Amino acid sequence: MKLRSLFLLAAILVAASSYSQKKALNQITLEEAQKQMRYLASDALEGRRTGSDGNIRAAEYISSLALEIGIKPLPGHNDLYQPLNYLKVSSVPGESTVTLTDSAGNNPHTAALFPLMTPSENVSYSGEVVFAGYGFTNTEAKYNDFAGVSITDRIVIIMTRKPDLKGSGMPDPNEDVSESAEVRKLPMLMLQKAKAIFYVADPALGSDISSSTLSMGSSYQLVPLFKSQAFTFSLNAYSITRETADMLLKNAGVTLAEMQDSIASSKKPASFIIPGLKAEVKLNVSKDTVTSFNIVGYLEGSDPILKNECVIYTAHYDHSGIDGSGRILNGANDNASGSIGLLGIARAFSSLDKKPLRSILFFWTTGEEEGLHGSTYYAENPLFPLENTIANINFDMIARSRRETDKGASNNGKIDITGPDTIRVISAHESKAFVALAKESCLKAGLHPIDEGKGSHFSGSDHYPFHRKGIPAIFFFTGIHLDYHQHTDDYEFIDFDKLLKVSKAGFLTGYHLASSRERPVIDNPVKK
Ligand SMILES: [Zn+2]
Repeated sequence: MKLRSLFLLAAILVAASSYSQKKALNQITLEEAQKQMRYLASDALEGRRTGSDGNIRAAEYISSLALEIGIKPLPGHNDLYQPLNYLKVSSVPGESTVTLTDSAGNNPHTAALFPLMTPSENVSYSGEVVFAGYGFTNTEAKYNDFAGVSITDRIVIIMTRKPDLKGSGMPDPNEDVSESAEVRKLPMLMLQKAKAIFYVADPALGSDISSSTLSMGSSYQLVPLFKSQAFTFSLNAYSITRETADMLLKNAGVTLAEMQDSIASSKKPASFIIPGLKAEVKLNVSKDTVTSFNIVGYLEGSDPILKNECVIYTAHYDHSGIDGSGRILNGANDNASGSIGLLGIARAFSSLDKKPLRSILFFWTTGEEEGLHGSTYYAENPLFPLENTIANINFDMIARSRRETDKGASNNGKIDITGPDTIRVISAHESKAFVALAKESCLKAGLHPIDEGKGSHFSGSDHYPFHRKGIPAIFFFTGIHLDYHQHTDDYEFIDFDKLLKVSKAGFLTGYHLASSRERPVIDNPVKK
């Protein structure tokens, strides 16, 4: 073949390939994305928490769509499901109580407890009760709610928030109850071996805790049965109503409001053991075995040899269920968005007349919010050899942009949400070529990539187990917004334009990796 016709052929090939790429990109549509978001982020799916019916319904929806698109089960499999079994421990409604008696066991009085976290076993014990202010210590101000009173082996009542010792001595009126601030009080209490911790809304807060915001609570705990060492955890922390707190304090002839006022006026702790009072805590749990599913399928590569290698796309479809106040966490950005991105990319690849040389795996993970369970399990039990898995592209939160309200700190971390035309590209830079390709693909899709290297979110999503196995991985991420892990992560705040652009950038990245004869060069291998 003459040189000129070689050039001509090359030009035709490039044109043909960019034509088919364009055709493929047109498969990623707003209409589909909106339709899928309307379902996946709806209340009907109950927050898609692993171990719930809503999670199963989300799995069925994604799996049937993927099959419809043309994604195939891996060889030797009949469907796209990889099961993960759990022991589901739920607290039995109405069976979490505290019963108060005098020291002789007379005059019993029973009230409800609201567990912050479901313990793994039934709970039953009794003990003395200590009032310990806010459960707060501040060395600089020489303030210590635990000074001079032992909480060891006792049940401790603490109020939410903290006193403003430089101001009125009351909690700052602009400060709401924050889950993370309350969680920070726990290590001190646990270190001193308190038997149980009762949180009560401090009276200055206005609203009471049972109808308020202390939402560490979840209605069940999951114990993974697929791990050789199942980790169970019992935190004996509960919220109680103010009425219950007053009932406990009655034996000392004081009220909670009086105790708060007294701390405020003296700016000194007012902790004490409530005299002549015994409290008995009882909580019953029920246990079931439940199954959740990783969803994994593929499109076979077109090269007889290279089809034995693959690029794997990941996005978790599970979310966090229902919060302690009964509000559904719809997880529209986290991570209905990434799951939908993956469906669009699957459709784009499926539409190609000539598939890339390598195979493409699509993996919707479960158990991510419980601790990267699905992806970690897959990394130990892969359905396609890991040594032939050349790269991982992960999507977790790809469809939010900065809004007016995204200021300060969210409940769960620093707000670093990107603007509408920008996306974070997170990686350990295992392969410069791969990162460069991802960035170039973003630009082609109309996005500015922020190459933040590992940054502060590196270990927080499903690419991480792949990275640990030595597979170069890239994670597309909007950043943290105010509604992160809140019931307000909803459909109406989704930036669909961004969702489509990130999906297209992801498609182009994987397309080029899977179409190149060479694997991406690894210049910064993972140290094992
Ligand atoms: Zn997520």
